[in-house]
Amino acid sequence: MKNDKEPSFRESVDMMFNRAVALLDLPPGLEEKIRVCNATYTVRFGVRLRGKIETFTGYRSVHSEHMEPVKGGIRFAMGVNQDEVEALAALMTYKCALVEAPFGGSKGGLRIDPRLYDEHELELITRRFAYELIKRDLIDPAQNVPAPDMGTGEREMAWIADQYNRMNTSDINSKACVTGKPLNAGGIAGRVEATGRGVQYALREFFRDERGLAKAGLTGKLDGKRVIVQGLGNVGYHAAKFLSEEDGSKITGIIEHDGGLVDENGLNVEAVRAWIIENGGVTGYPDATYVEKGAAVIENECDILVPAALEGVINLSNADRIKAPLIIEAANGPVTAGADDIMRKKGIVIIPDMYANAGGVTVSYFEWVKNLSHIRFGRMQRRQEEGRHQLVVDELERLSSDKGLGWQLSPGFKEKYLRGADELELVRSGLDDTMRISYQTMRDVWHERDDVEDLRTAAYIVAISKVAASYRAKGL
Ligand code: GLU
Repeated sequence: MKNDKEPSFRESVDMMFNRAVALLDLPPGLEEKIRVCNATYTVRFGVRLRGKIETFTGYRSVHSEHMEPVKGGIRFAMGVNQDEVEALAALMTYKCALVEAPFGGSKGGLRIDPRLYDEHELELITRRFAYELIKRDLIDPAQNVPAPDMGTGEREMAWIADQYNRMNTSDINSKACVTGKPLNAGGIAGRVEATGRGVQYALREFFRDERGLAKAGLTGKLDGKRVIVQGLGNVGYHAAKFLSEEDGSKITGIIEHDGGLVDENGLNVEAVRAWIIENGGVTGYPDATYVEKGAAVIENECDILVPAALEGVINLSNADRIKAPLIIEAANGPVTAGADDIMRKKGIVIIPDMYANAGGVTVSYFEWVKNLSHIRFGRMQRRQEEGRHQLVVDELERLSSDKGLGWQLSPGFKEKYLRGADELELVRSGLDDTMRISYQTMRDVWHERDDVEDLRTAAYIVAISKVAASYRAKGL
């Protein structure tokens, strides 16, 4: 049950912004300029479906144009409303600033339950929504570049790109009008996994920060840590999969819309995901304990809690019962401002959304650059790199045999060392670097300023300072 004192999502973001801005020395008036949403466009359009016209409501909100294009996903969900879209657009501004993706912030949404329509109907609806936005430059490679969000994915992005192309046939950069496209339609390797992958890289970097770990009361490595994931959609699934398969963490709880699954020995993420795809939920999954009141699993003992679905799931009604010492916000806005206060006072460390889920927009940035340069990453240098590595290996082997040294390269070394990086490896490397550097900037503010208690305030301070610097450079 939500509490009456709970602020709206938009108010929550503003409250967190205000906490940080109070610690900054901004010129008069700039604070207000940064906080407000520049514009929100509402569209109501009709689509003829099953013999009658259905009217849909959609939004595209532009929060800040200190850099252009502005960037942010389009979500398809029944809960979409202006307050939510504006809160999400504001978060995009701060997120892009923090990870140095050179964009302003925007977000879009369509109030729809996509499960009620077949593919052809969804295509008609998506194209019509895109048409309305394109003709107002709210989708445009130089001005506003959407991406996937809740309820949308590669398929919808391909329709949007094609719609833009039909309306702008001579725009040579038309593919850069939207990111998150399928590989065969101008997408980039690693975009689908990007947000979940970013969560993994963020946690790895957190576990390299001894002082941060101590603040959370944690020790050691990710290996063996108990993780509860709320929401096994694209982001939650990839984060859980990589943490369990590559870092040795145990996924001890998975929460979905129809209940929760728990297993102290660790759930098999692939098997649970396959079950959900097949059966529409976790009910009936045979290899774990099923908890009907799934939402309560968020309060179970664990080392790391990963809310990866909706906003506001940790709020005034449950914040004081959360036992995890570390929360990583894979979703946007999963913790309300009130819950944030309660948990901060309890010493729970929260890795904030604007950093934790920035992997998506980071790889979107790479995709946009790829589209504008019209060439796949690695295409020019891959074989050249392999040739240079071959030279070193040949030389080592020659030295060894000429001088009778009997050197043996370790098994697998040659194969690994010789192989030049392909696009996926380059994307992962760029993402890892982004997540590490952004954490470090945020971490320094957290550890070094006595007036900054938490990572979220530190993240806002870094992001707002960067946005303010752009405004100042423009003479505002
Ligand atoms: N929807 C994602 C987010 O909230 C990705 C945005 C993008 O790639 O532009 O960050």
